[in-house]
Amino acid sequence: MVDSVEVSGLVKSYGPLRAVDGIDFSVRPGEVFSFLGPNGAGKTTTVEILEGLRKRSGGDVRVLGLDPWHELDRLRTRIGVTPQDFHFFPKLTPREAIQLYARLFDVRPDVAELLAHVELADKADDHYDVLSGGQRQKLGVALALVNDPELCFLDEPTTGLDPRARRSIWEVIRRLRSEGRTVFLTTHYLDEAEQLADRISIINLGKIVATGRPDEIITRYGRHDRLRIVGDPGLAGHLGPLGFTVQEVPNGVEIELGSKAEALRALEAVSASGLRWDSFSTRRETLEDVFLRLVGRIDEGMLRIGGRENGGAP
Ligand code: ATP
Repeated sequence: MVDSVEVSGLVKSYGPLRAVDGIDFSVRPGEVFSFLGPNGAGKTTTVEILEGLRKRSGGDVRVLGLDPWHELDRLRTRIGVTPQDFHFFPKLTPREAIQLYARLFDVRPDVAELLAHVELADKADDHYDVLSGGQRQKLGVALALVNDPELCFLDEPTTGLDPRARRSIWEVIRRLRSEGRTVFLTTHYLDEAEQLADRISIINLGKIVATGRPDEIITRYGRHDRLRIVGDPGLAGHLGPLGFTVQEVPNGVEIELGSKAEALRALEAVSASGLRWDSFSTRRETLEDVFLRLVGRIDEGMLRIGGRENGGAP
């Protein structure tokens, strides 16, 4: 089966800046693919090239088998796009907005079904300007679905939403996937990517630094488990000189563990220190931990005491 998106050697230069610097990735049909990266990494540039809105400087791009720059007319009817920071006419209702888009695409969607699909049935006739942030984003997703697309581009669909509204958009995205649509999701929320994406690519300074399933990336680039001890922050000063890689966190410390035995040694050291401790727990590294390391932002704040190089190689 042909990949929904195939990108090879993609380059986009703005004058002397290579904002996208020779990237390769593919998106498989029916998957949720998440494109992650810090501000200015090159995500929007890439996505807009895929959507046929920007011209590439080099490399090859195929979206549903078509070249988005030269064959946009054929592509437009098969993709749906929710832009970043979606806004609409203040005095139009969701029902009218869908009817308007349907006329533009010359299609006849079931408006009630589409509104129900994004959980907006009860807001069908309210003006856009009285919808909440989450409801507006859902309308953006509904408009991306008017032409019944095979592939949906959702650009930061949950930015600025409260946790409940975010989860409600997650449900909509899961539903798109269960219908067999391909979803290309950009987001700054790493937990969102971890929850929703079948596969992700991380871009930094115009280059892809990791691609794979979230759990694969955590296993491949993640470091050891961490032991969190709630207690006296002075524990950091005590454990560091003993060779532990330790970081102060709110209400206590976090120790990077090289092995299970190291966890036991750390607990013994804590107990022997005479300092107060209330509870402990261990946790695996998250996608966010790995992301921060891959884009080079994590080592600030990590105490490297005792000559060990931050808990060993990945
Ligand atoms: P964000 O997460 O902040 O939206 P991004 O990953 O989407 O960032 P891009 O918008 O693709 O990043 O920008 C990548 C780089 O290209 C940045 O350094 C940006 O300043 C630059 N850039 C983007 N568009 C243009 C343009 N039209 N002209 C010149 N430089 C641009």
